[in-house]
Amino acid sequence: MTYQTINPYTGKTVKTFPNHTDQEVEQFLTAGYALYQSDWARPENMGARLDCLNRLAEIMETRKDEIARIITVDMGKRLAESYSEVTSCVDISRYYAEHAAEFLQPKPYPNPLGQAQLGYYPIGIVMAVEPWNFPLYQLVRVAVPAIAAGNSVMIKHASNVPQCAQLMEDLFKEAGIPEGGYRNLFVSFEQIGKIIADDRVQGVALTGSEGAGSSVAEQAGAKLKKATMELGGNDVFVVLDDADIHKAAQAAVSGRLANAGQVCTASKRYVVQKKVAEEFTRLVTEAFKQQVMGDPLDEATTLAPLSSAGAKKHLQEQLDKAIAAGAKVLCGNQPAEGNFFTPTLITQIGRNNPAYFEEFFGPVAQLYVVDNDDEVVKLANDSHYGLAGIIFSADVARAKSLAARIETGMVFINRSSDSVAPLPFGGVKRSGFGRELSDLGIKEFVNQKLVVVGD
Ligand code: NAP
Repeated sequence: MTYQTINPYTGKTVKTFPNHTDQEVEQFLTAGYALYQSDWARPENMGARLDCLNRLAEIMETRKDEIARIITVDMGKRLAESYSEVTSCVDISRYYAEHAAEFLQPKPYPNPLGQAQLGYYPIGIVMAVEPWNFPLYQLVRVAVPAIAAGNSVMIKHASNVPQCAQLMEDLFKEAGIPEGGYRNLFVSFEQIGKIIADDRVQGVALTGSEGAGSSVAEQAGAKLKKATMELGGNDVFVVLDDADIHKAAQAAVSGRLANAGQVCTASKRYVVQKKVAEEFTRLVTEAFKQQVMGDPLDEATTLAPLSSAGAKKHLQEQLDKAIAAGAKVLCGNQPAEGNFFTPTLITQIGRNNPAYFEEFFGPVAQLYVVDNDDEVVKLANDSHYGLAGIIFSADVARAKSLAARIETGMVFINRSSDSVAPLPFGGVKRSGFGRELSDLGIKEFVNQKLVVVGD
């Protein structure tokens, strides 16, 4: 495993980091566990932890220009998208600094045995494995609530974004988190297995692909560790026959091309009712063709390169297989330089086509045309995944009734999917389990301890 930044736009190697040895990992575990056992982690000292989170927000806000550039150089997203990611990190830090105490307020439980109260206590070290597509935001989403609750956090980040991985550790340190509170790990998969097995680790979180989730969840399960999994998606973007087509097409395009299409909740399957399919397709293909590929640091660029040469190769292979299995290309699939991938729309994807069930992690959208609402539900639920569906319709009651029938963790009506600190985020089926953000996120890795006082 090499932790190395290769700038996805220039193809140049920027920086390589040495791996941590087993001895170093042991020191990190010792420090993390010692902090968990110290006064720092006690519920009554939450104020000190929340002060650090407020400081983290302040530091990130002050240094946003430098941080945004590091994100773009590490994984290639457009600079404007990197700024927006920094803002999300600031928002999450402030959100938990403001609300964690209220979320973890002990709760009385009326009952016949005596005076009973449920308190929320830290559990130890939380080990997280995170992906590169939002290389700071994904870390903040897991680490901030866990630290607020009094846990220590260790994170193995994706090997292609080590600058962001190191930066996050430096930022937490600068914000005043004591030694052991947050540790970045440059480690192998084998070392992760040993860390998960360690008794000092009591929580395991992974955001990433189905394959990584399955492997890490298996290891966590074998050692009976509480785990959350935020995995892939192949979400439907539904356009009903009464929808505002211009608004829907705009959201479909941004929902598929943001972050160069590398978003778990991206709108990967357009499911459009027949009456509006032609107009929707025309608007989307026009917009796809107008995208400007270029330097992600340049404001004129609208579509960034993919994160790596490997990601492009994999996406092209998936697309080639889809076409070989009968899919028709409506636009795109043109040669592009470097790691760029032309926005592509495909249709006529039969159930036997591998594309029908696969997640395409890049700017490739699928179009399905259906007759009625029942067909929408059937297609939406004929998926291994279930993360964030979208429905466009002038009739909100009709859209809500469809939302109730769709098997996803989230549904957005008449808008793109998005994630903000106050809203629970997560999926069902192979999109994973558990929730991040909101009051639910902070309660994933706490001991909900009951204390009963007899008469
Ligand atoms: P990935 O290959 O699964 O990598 C994610 C992380 O898991 C990386 O740190 C990776 O390390 C590590 N990893 C991979 N295989 C592992 C294994 N067997 N054991 C331990 N760690 C392992 O995912 P990706 O391709 O980078 O990211 C895209 C995927 O993440 C997509 O499926 C996307 O939908 C999903 N995602 C989900 C969410 C969500 O919240 N639901 C959010 C963002 C992304 P290396 O980099 O060293 O391989």
